[in-house]
Amino acid sequence: MGVVNFDRMRECIEVPKDAERLLSKCEKEIRFSLNLLLYPDGLVEADAYVVYHNTARGPAKGGLRIWPTVTLDHTRMLAELMTLKTALVGIPFGGGKSGIALDPRQFPRANKSALIREFVHIIRDELYAGSYVPAPDLGSNPSDMAVIYGETHMLECVTGKPPRVGGLPGRREATGYGVSHVTALACDTFLKRGLHGLEVAVQGFGNVGEWTCRFLSEQGAKIVGISDSEGGVCRSDGLPVDELAAYAARNGSVAGFAGDRISNEELLAMDVDLLIPAAVEDVITEHNAARISAKLIVEAANGPTTPGGEEILVKRGIPVVPDILANSGGVIASYVEWHQAKSGAITKKEETYQTVAEQMEGAFHRVCEFGCDRHVCNRDAALAVAVQELIATMKDRGWIPGVDG
Ligand code: NAD
Repeated sequence: MGVVNFDRMRECIEVPKDAERLLSKCEKEIRFSLNLLLYPDGLVEADAYVVYHNTARGPAKGGLRIWPTVTLDHTRMLAELMTLKTALVGIPFGGGKSGIALDPRQFPRANKSALIREFVHIIRDELYAGSYVPAPDLGSNPSDMAVIYGETHMLECVTGKPPRVGGLPGRREATGYGVSHVTALACDTFLKRGLHGLEVAVQGFGNVGEWTCRFLSEQGAKIVGISDSEGGVCRSDGLPVDELAAYAARNGSVAGFAGDRISNEELLAMDVDLLIPAAVEDVITEHNAARISAKLIVEAANGPTTPGGEEILVKRGIPVVPDILANSGGVIASYVEWHQAKSGAITKKEETYQTVAEQMEGAFHRVCEFGCDRHVCNRDAALAVAVQELIATMKDRGWIPGVDG
């Protein structure tokens, strides 16, 4: 089953059968083996995928994930999330994703770059046509996007590039900025309080987790727990985010930083105001949702809560700001970068932040309004608003019968 459960969706909105058919499958899937002889690693072979879920609203947009857990099914799910996300926040992109099933931490920079060049070589037609536009995701970063640009020499082929290589000031931190912005809105709406003194636990200290912590602590929130794939650390008086970032950059992990050691499972159960999963999917499940003590969850990662986990959270009255809304800052900034590349405009960081804030605020209010009107949880409301938008777009495109056809 995909992200959208259409039986459940039909309880909130009318979904034409043709729309369900088109949104229940991926438009295009490319799968291949990435093979390269590298020194000193020897022959590297990895499964790789590019998936277009739905391009009614524009080119397939979505990150390149380089992580050992990448599978075709996962890449499909992530591409579908992108279709829903771009529709929810109102930007003219469709949904796509790509993945390479490798552990990027095993390779020196030069070898990772060589693998990405080979990846680009194989999917060059998609990139040159502008029909799939990658960006950083788990295991890939702005330097990797610079490698993609270096192979294509087309600035609009890829977003999330470093600012000196045609990138956008503010893109790197845009997802974290968006997470912190929507957190402020959610605290106000659901907890009736501001960010000052808010106790926060964050799982994942990569691009999204680190910038989320920076923006939240700048606004007075107290980051009391952080974990990554190697372990975690907590401190009731708050963790110093700058120092922790420098430590993680030196040691490759937050594990071992001054404070109490904590496992990922313990971090998820911390007694905090706000829990932000910002790492991988399926971490809040029917097995641990009953132990979650946070008053609010903001999903910075894609797909961190399983349907079984969500059911328990809804019963317990813990509001969740769903991924397609909470982490949309990255793709909104990617749109600004893509537009900049196409138009030759020069964009300031403040303009990037402003666009992220405006699009997310609009989407947040649409979701809350829908949720209140129909008495459904935030995720059902966000998915319904996105699907309504996609249905209207597919009618406009003549993909499904519309008012006059
Ligand atoms: P990243 O590679 O920069 O960082 C990932 C972090 O998660 C690292 O700290 C890693 O150690 C940690 N991690 C990995 N496996 C873990 C595990 N099993 N338990 C705990 N921690 C684990 O990735 P990122 O770009 O920060 O992306 C994180 C999440 O946010 C992903 O779900 C991604 O799809 C989503 N996302 C990213 C962006 C973006 O702009 N980068 C935009 C939208 C959504």
